[in-house]
Amino acid sequence: MHNVEDTLGATRPTAVRQAADQDAARDLLIEAAVRYAEERHWEVAAGSWLIEDEGPLRCSCGDLGCPAPGAHPTTRDWARKASAGPGVVRRWWTDNPLASVLLPTGRAFDAIDVPEIAGCLALARMERMGLQLGPVLAVPGGGAGTAGRGRRLIFLVLPGSLPKLPDLLRRLGWGPGRLDLMGHGEGDWIVAPPTRVSTFGFAQWAREPTTLNRWLPEATELINPIAYACGREAPLSSPVS
Ligand SMILES: [Zn+2]
Repeated sequence: MHNVEDTLGATRPTAVRQAADQDAARDLLIEAAVRYAEERHWEVAAGSWLIEDEGPLRCSCGDLGCPAPGAHPTTRDWARKASAGPGVVRRWWTDNPLASVLLPTGRAFDAIDVPEIAGCLALARMERMGLQLGPVLAVPGGGAGTAGRGRRLIFLVLPGSLPKLPDLLRRLGWGPGRLDLMGHGEGDWIVAPPTRVSTFGFAQWAREPTTLNRWLPEATELINPIAYACGREAPLSSPVS
C-alpha cells in the first residue's frame, strides 16, 4: 500500500503537469491565431502538427521524411481557405487545437528569410541606422522552408517588392543563388509563433508585431544591410566580380 501511494505520488503530479502544459500550449495557439486575425487582420491557415507519443516526434501528415514537420498546409486549397475572420479562425483551432499557425505570404506581407547569425547582424545594423522595421520571426532549424538548415530569422516586409530583389542583389554584387537568402511571396507561407516546429523548438517573435510596427518596410529598404550581413556570415560562394 505504501508503495502504491509512493508510485502515485511520484507519477501523478508529472502526468498532471504534462496535461496542464499541453492545455496551456493549445490555449496559446488558439489565442495567437485569433489575435493575428483580429488585431493585425492577417489571414491565417491551420496547418499540420507534431505528434509526440512513444515513437519519434513526427508530422501529422504521416510522411516520415516530411520536409517541414508540423508546419505545412494540409490541403491543396489552403491558400484560398485562409481567413482573417476571427470567428472562423477560432472555430478551426477549437476543432483542432494542435494545428500549426500558418500565415500566407504575398498578401498582408512578404518575408525575407536568412540564417539567424546573419539576420541578427543585419537587425543590429538596421536598429543602429534607425530603419523602420516590421515584425521579425525566429524559427528553429527544421521549420517550414528550412529543412535541414539551422535557425532562421525572417523579416516581414510590404508585399509585392520581392520580384525586385534579384536585380537589387545583382547590383550589390550578389548573383542568383550566391547568398543564403530566400524570399517568401505569393503562394508561400511562414509558420507563426507559438507553433512548435521541432523537438525543443518553437517559432518565436524576435520583434513582436505591435501597433508601432504596423507599417511594414519595403524589401528594398532592408536588402542592403541584409545582403551585407549574409555576404559576411552566410555566402554560398564568392561575390560576382
Ligand atoms: Zn508533414
